[in-house]
Amino acid sequence: MTTDITIIAPRWLIPVEPCNTVLENHCVVVENGNIVQLCNTQSALKTFPQATLIDRSDHALIPGLINTHTHAAMSLFRGMADDTALMDWLITHIWPAEAKWVDQFFIRDGTELAIAEMLLSGTTCFSDMYLFPDVVAGTAHKMGVRATIGMIVLDAPTAWAKDADEYFAKGLVVHQQVQSLSGITSSWAPHAPYSVSDTSLRRVQKLAKKLKIPVHMHIHETQHEVDEAVASSGIRPLKRLDDLGLLNSSMIAVHATQLEDQEIDLIAERGVHIAHCPNSNAKLASGHCRVTDLLAAGVNVCLGTDSAASNNNLDMFIEMRAAALNAKQVSANPKSLPAWQALEMATINGAKALQIDHQTGSLCLGKAADMIAIDLNRVNTMPVYDPISQIVYSAASSQVSDVWIQGKHLVKQHSLLNFDQGILLQKSARWGEKIALADR
Ligand SMILES: [Zn+2]
Repeated sequence: MTTDITIIAPRWLIPVEPCNTVLENHCVVVENGNIVQLCNTQSALKTFPQATLIDRSDHALIPGLINTHTHAAMSLFRGMADDTALMDWLITHIWPAEAKWVDQFFIRDGTELAIAEMLLSGTTCFSDMYLFPDVVAGTAHKMGVRATIGMIVLDAPTAWAKDADEYFAKGLVVHQQVQSLSGITSSWAPHAPYSVSDTSLRRVQKLAKKLKIPVHMHIHETQHEVDEAVASSGIRPLKRLDDLGLLNSSMIAVHATQLEDQEIDLIAERGVHIAHCPNSNAKLASGHCRVTDLLAAGVNVCLGTDSAASNNNLDMFIEMRAAALNAKQVSANPKSLPAWQALEMATINGAKALQIDHQTGSLCLGKAADMIAIDLNRVNTMPVYDPISQIVYSAASSQVSDVWIQGKHLVKQHSLLNFDQGILLQKSARWGEKIALADR
């Protein structure tokens, strides 16, 4: 059968593995959702004469971007409480708004809005941490995006669960639910050291080990968090988590802006992954993540946007650029975090952290065809000496023309194929009006 075969022929093919590689006159051949050839375009056309050819002659083709930390549905709180510090933002604004507004309908509509934004800006996979993860899983699957659904754990009651037992019970149901959803996986998502007890964290550790899934947690987000923990318990949160057996290769530590030298060594030794969120850290003035030192120690660092309420977008292009620039500024070294490494952080490193690097994260034979085309023939990205540099330092996410996930063409020539963007916008506007009116 050759009718199911598609050849995507870009100007530049950037597979990410091997690293810092740009291929010209090369294409990707896709069959049944998987990459079956990466080869010279002319020879592919000869080998597969009946294949459908998608010619993107001004474009770079790269793996789909992987957002390793977000709270998708919070997109409906975008811009609601800007220019405040993290704890004030949470306690005065976000937690009261969540108590008032978050239910399954808010989660469904907010997640749809977030996924539309992510797809249109080239993100093919996201790792979520939020309430009603069952709805997030169903929505992600319906929209065709790849996702790791965080089964949230808190000690405080929310609209999703009344106590720790209910978070775990419902989380286990979500884990079962995702087993039958293609492209969807699960993780445990204890919110943060200050909001989850030792008892619950021990359960997370045991269940993550038993189910062989990642743990996704905000850790050392601010100096305040670390100071409070030291004042109340005498130890830093990272040490507490290590004592509880949670620091291992299943752990994705989000933010990690407060790291001492020996903590970087510990993270490297334990194989912990870091989800770096440079824009959220900057906007909430949470501090800097020592990415250069972490990478030098051999730590797998990936990228996340955090929610659109603290960013204020889900744009991984902006995150790659911020990561590269921030690393140079923090380390006072312009050679720190070159463009190709920022691209790795946004793709294969995220796949490794989410334990799905056998399926996605790079354009390699046998992996799923999760990939995006970026039109570089624009005034802001011409001329092109080095397409990886152009993508990281010059391109806007609006230059993403096409998105494929598991070979399915979800964004074509800048348009969402399976979703009516007008309806999404109307629903989001209605939520905004309702929330703004109630706060008046
Ligand atoms: Zn977060």
